[in-house]
Amino acid sequence: QLSNRLEAVAKLVPQGSFLADIGSDHAYLPAHLILNNQITGAIAGEVVKGPYESAEKLVNDLLLTDKIDVRLGDGLEVIKAYDNVSAITICGMGGTLIRDILERGKNKKCLTRKELLILQPNVGSHVLRHWLVENHYIIQDEKILSENDKTYEIMVAEASDRKVELTESEELFGPFLMKESSDIFKKKWQFELEQYERVKKQLSQSKTNQDEKIAQINHQCDLIKEVLS
Ligand code: SAM
Repeated sequence: QLSNRLEAVAKLVPQGSFLADIGSDHAYLPAHLILNNQITGAIAGEVVKGPYESAEKLVNDLLLTDKIDVRLGDGLEVIKAYDNVSAITICGMGGTLIRDILERGKNKKCLTRKELLILQPNVGSHVLRHWLVENHYIIQDEKILSENDKTYEIMVAEASDRKVELTESEELFGPFLMKESSDIFKKKWQFELEQYERVKKQLSQSKTNQDEKIAQINHQCDLIKEVLS
């Protein structure tokens, strides 16, 4: 039984994909997709020995060794050109970590730009959107969900031969998510706004000059108020 978060990611993986799930931990996502006949095969990449062994165990227990190749290695380096990976999932990490994995993968030529990227950052999704834009990827879809009092964002991106800019608000909130403006989205940003207001209050009581930080926070708050209005 997958978490709602991974279930939502699974729904975004195209039928018939050959998947590389990076930071796969137990390999729950590729195993689920294989068992549902949604993908033809997968690589489950892990950089840490413990999770790598958990993934190996699950794949062995489910008798899926001919469909899922569990590989130990850093980020996209587990992908080889002959794999013909058509989709990459990187889920359950911070946006900065996912961005760094993509950047290293790009520099080491493990990213061919043919793969559909399905990314689920736990925090810092704007960092990832920024990287996608700078690297000429186009965000095709986004989802937001909440599970166990946490909010998760998922984005799907495809390489393009041109740069499609996002506005400052689109980069922060997500172009699809801000348009959709779901209850979960509104709740998340209402909460963020309250956090910013709290920090601002603390900064304004500080003995040292915090004008610059306060101005930055005011700007963020203005963007949030605008998207919530
Ligand atoms: N993807 C799963 C999910 O969403 O439930 C597991 C998320 S788990 C919190 C993050 C996993 O990413 C950990 O197992 C960690 O070892 C792995 N990881 C972190 N950095 C990595 C890297 N550079 N390359 C491969 N795996 C990495």
